[in-house]
Amino acid sequence: MARYTDSVCRLCRREGIKLYLKGERCFSDKCAVDRRPFPPGQHGQGRRRNSEYGLQLREKQKARRYYGVLEKQFEAYYDEAARRQGVTGDNLLQLLESRLDNVVYRLGFAASRPEARQLVRHGHFLVNGRRVDIPSYLTKPGDVIAIREKSQGIERIKYLLENAESRTIPAWLSLDAANKSGTILRQPARDEIDTPVAEQMIVEYYSR
Ligand code: SF4
Repeated sequence: MARYTDSVCRLCRREGIKLYLKGERCFSDKCAVDRRPFPPGQHGQGRRRNSEYGLQLREKQKARRYYGVLEKQFEAYYDEAARRQGVTGDNLLQLLESRLDNVVYRLGFAASRPEARQLVRHGHFLVNGRRVDIPSYLTKPGDVIAIREKSQGIERIKYLLENAESRTIPAWLSLDAANKSGTILRQPARDEIDTPVAEQMIVEYYSR
């Protein structure tokens, strides 16, 4: 399966914000956005002109990179969001939030979305009692996401579990730390999604 393999800190620098792709490092003084707050590359510190199209493109890229989704898949999410009833931008963010890797991250079972993606890929999670190893799996209200019993002894997972309770869990999810599981209570409302993107600009980008 195709995925981005270059330095992820470059992506944050390109978008000019922290995308939190490296877990603990993002909160340390080693964060590349704090150390070099300008786009990467030879012309990174040059003058930038932003057309309307350029701004819309950046918002789309920011959202895509925030959730670790490749171009084609992101387009498919947009098509699905536009097809559904309601506000397309809200639908798009709801779809992205429903991804299993995002839910695992939001529940505090991983320090970053890339780590959540890897843990899911390695088959450490159950959805409603069945093993699911597809990071893009779309969860729905009522689903219970649990760490497989066999995986609970892995050092990294033990460490993440110890710290999960100290994380702020969004109100649309509930964490059952004792059972090492979490439940999707409902679809998140827009004001419960802290993703720093202007989704209307993404809609405008695709509506050109
Ligand atoms: Fe982005 Fe984290 Fe790297 Fe900072 S440390 S640039 S937030 S991935």
